[in-house]
Parts: sequence; structure tokens; C-alpha cells
Amino acid sequence: MSEEANPFESLQEQVDDAAAYLGVDDGVLERLKHPERVLETNLTVELDDGSLETFRAFRSQFNGDRGPYKGGIRYHPGVSRDEVKALSGWMVYKTAVVDIPYGGGKGGIAVDPREYSDDELERLTRSFATELRPLIGEDRDVPAPDVNTGQREMNWIKDTYETLENTTAPGVITGKAPDSGGSAGRVEATGRSTMLTAREAFDYLGEEIEGATVAVQGYGNAGSVAARLVERELGATVVAVSDSSGAIHDPDGLDAAAVKDFKDETGAVTGYDDATEELSNEDLLTLDVDLLIPAALENAIDDDVAEDVSADVIVEAANGPITPDADDVLTERGVEVLPDILANAGGVTVSYFEWVQNRQRFYWTEERVNSELERTVTEAFDALTDAYEERGLPNFRTAAYVVAIQRVVDAYRQGGTWP
Ligand code: NAD
Repeated sequence: MSEEANPFESLQEQVDDAAAYLGVDDGVLERLKHPERVLETNLTVELDDGSLETFRAFRSQFNGDRGPYKGGIRYHPGVSRDEVKALSGWMVYKTAVVDIPYGGGKGGIAVDPREYSDDELERLTRSFATELRPLIGEDRDVPAPDVNTGQREMNWIKDTYETLENTTAPGVITGKAPDSGGSAGRVEATGRSTMLTAREAFDYLGEEIEGATVAVQGYGNAGSVAARLVERELGATVVAVSDSSGAIHDPDGLDAAAVKDFKDETGAVTGYDDATEELSNEDLLTLDVDLLIPAALENAIDDDVAEDVSADVIVEAANGPITPDADDVLTERGVEVLPDILANAGGVTVSYFEWVQNRQRFYWTEERVNSELERTVTEAFDALTDAYEERGLPNFRTAAYVVAIQRVVDAYRQGGTWP
């Protein structure tokens, strides 16, 4: 195995690669590679047995040139300052590539939520929300869910903020439950943009998506929805899926929805009766399929794994699942990679729709949400492929960054220099 890539260095390398095609001057380039500010805080929380425990937490505000900082909050033992910085940078370029009026931010708490009770997690979340309060706001910084957080945590953060500010401000956070100001279509949004990106990519490449074989790494929110939608809406065949327990495989196709129900009941995809065999997580990544969807965590595919990838197309539902070295290998081997900042941008796009609805106090139907999302993803895909062709770029990731960086640089330049 290669040494684990530092995600912040991966982000900087991706920005450098794309900026080289745009001739961005060095001063501006430095700005594009570093966060504006990072909150690092320690949250001391009382556990149910009366003891105290301290958790490290972060919020990185990477760039606000195009609008309020925007990005999720993750609960995972591996959360670190560099990870949060990288993820906040990817948000800047993600919001820019789909052209929604936000900057980029990201936060997280280094915690394994499975080890704590609901009450303990609520106290932890409210403690973080209290620390975040001076930094966030409907026009300042708008967090959202990420790995191991969802509607419940978002509702707690909104409630804490509103209580402390003595106001109503549903747009301070997105990914809320519908009764707390959430949007129709938000839960499915990331998987939906992954499906739409796969559809556009196969069409652009002249490949048939109907009947195409698909492997999905990571069967959480993003991965399980993407699997169900490529199966249901595109007629693709999901032949393998994995989660942290391992992978299951059936060359004739799994039933994506039934596997999700099984995982909801048992906590794992392994043990699902209707699969032909169980595989290791690495075997799933190198299966001979038409489409591979990594939907777990960053650095899943390093250069060693990339040498053995047999998929023709990879659509990144996860953030940063392919290291820069692996990217070079895949480009050389002719594997087409549709980057995270486009493919999983559905989450932030519908977050934006949620925020718009919160600001207007006027709510859309799910059909309207899905159709606006489809328009956003297809327009972004077209901008990406235009840049790819016009500039003769080496791969779709570089094209996505070229489009996104140009938009951020334009917004920065148009603002002029102050002081
Ligand atoms: P989640 O916690 O719901 O799911 C993560 C899944 O990955 C789980 O099923 C877990 O078991 C599995 N997993 C963990 N390690 C694994 C491994 N080594 N091999 C195989 N599976 C493994 O999280 P999510 O919200 O679906 O997020 C997944 C990825 O998608 C993250 O990179 C996240 O940043 C990205 N993403 C999510 C959203 C969203 O709206 N949920 C939006 C944009 C990006």
C-alpha cells in the first residue's frame, strides 16, 4: 500500500494542476489553496454516568468570495484539522462548479458516535453549536450533514442557534427534517446527482447505461441512494456493494432497495442472503464492472488499487476517494473519472434550494426540487465538457476545477482589493 495521502495536500495538488491551465497569478493561487480561517475547539461534555469527556472539533471557512461558507459537519474518529481543511476547500470548488452562490466550509468532531447514547450526542452537538454560533448564520456560514450526521443533528444545531439568538433562522443550517424547515428531496439529493452524472457521462462517452454493471463502495446515504436510482431510473444492474463490514456480490444483480432494508435491519450489508458471494472491500474496487461508485471515505483508491481497477467509468459519490497519484494512473489507463465536486454536488445544491425556501418561507414540491437539480447538474456537466474539449484538458477532474477556479477567481477579482 502507498502511504496514506494527506487530503489537504491532495486538494492543493488538484488546485495547482487546474490553475496551471488558467494562468492564475501566484498571489491569488495561494488564496485558493488555504482556508480563510479554521476554528479548533475542545468540547467538554458530561456523559450519562456523570463523568466528563473532551472532544476535539473543527470548522474551516475556506473561501467566501461567492457567498456564505457552506459545507457539512462530520462525526468520525478520523476527523482532523487537515481533513476538515481539505473538505472545506472541495466545497468551494463544488459550489462553484454547479454555480450556486456559496463559498466553502466544513466541520467535524473527532468522535465515534456509535459509542455514545442519544442524550450524550445531543449534548455534544449542542455544545458544538454553541461554539459555532458566532461564526455561523444564514448569510455567514451554513452547515449541513455529512458522514454520521443527519436531520437529527441539524435540528439540534438549528434549535441551539435560534434559542441563543432569540430568533427564528431555519436557513442557518440545511439538511433539516421537513417539519423543521427541511426540503423535499434533500435526503436523496447526493445519490441523485451521482445518478445524473453517471447518465450524462455514459451518454457523452457513447456508452449504454441501461444494463451496465455497477459496483458501489459504501452503502450509507450517498451510496445506497445512488445504487437504487441507477437501478430504478437508468436500468443499470448493481452487482456489488460494500460497507465497513465487507462486500457482497451477485453477477446477476442485487436488489439495491432490499439490500438497504437488510442493512437498516442488521447494520451491515454482509450476511445478505441473496448475494452469490462475499468479497473484501479491495476486491469490490477492482471488480470488472462498467461503473464504479466510491461512496465511503477519502483515499479509498490509491495508486496501487488504481493499477487494478477494471471499471471503465468511476463516478465519485464520496469526497476525495481517489488520491492524486491514483488519478494519474487512472488517466493513463483510460479510466474515465467523473469528479466528486460534480457528482456529489446534489447534496449542496438541494441544501441551497432548502436555504432559498427557508429565506422565502415558501416550500417547493419534490418534483420541482428534482427538476431544478437535474437542470443544475446537466448545465454543470455541459460547462465541464465544454472546458474539457476547448482547452484539451487531460481529464474531467481538471476540467471541473478549471471551470470552478475561474468562477472563484472572477468573483474575487470583481470584488477588488480591500484594504
Ligand atoms: P454514511 O455514513 O451514510 O455512509 C458511509 C458508508 O461507507 C457506510 O455504509 C460505511 O459503512 C461505509 N464505509 C466506511 N468505510 C468503508 C470502507 N472502508 N469500505 C466500504 N465501505 C465503507 O455517509 P454518507 O453521507 O453516505 O457519505 C459518504 C461519502 O459521501 C462521504 O465522502 C461524504 O463526504 C460524501 N458526501 C455525502 C453527502 C450527503 O449528502 N450525504 C454529500 C456530499 C458528499
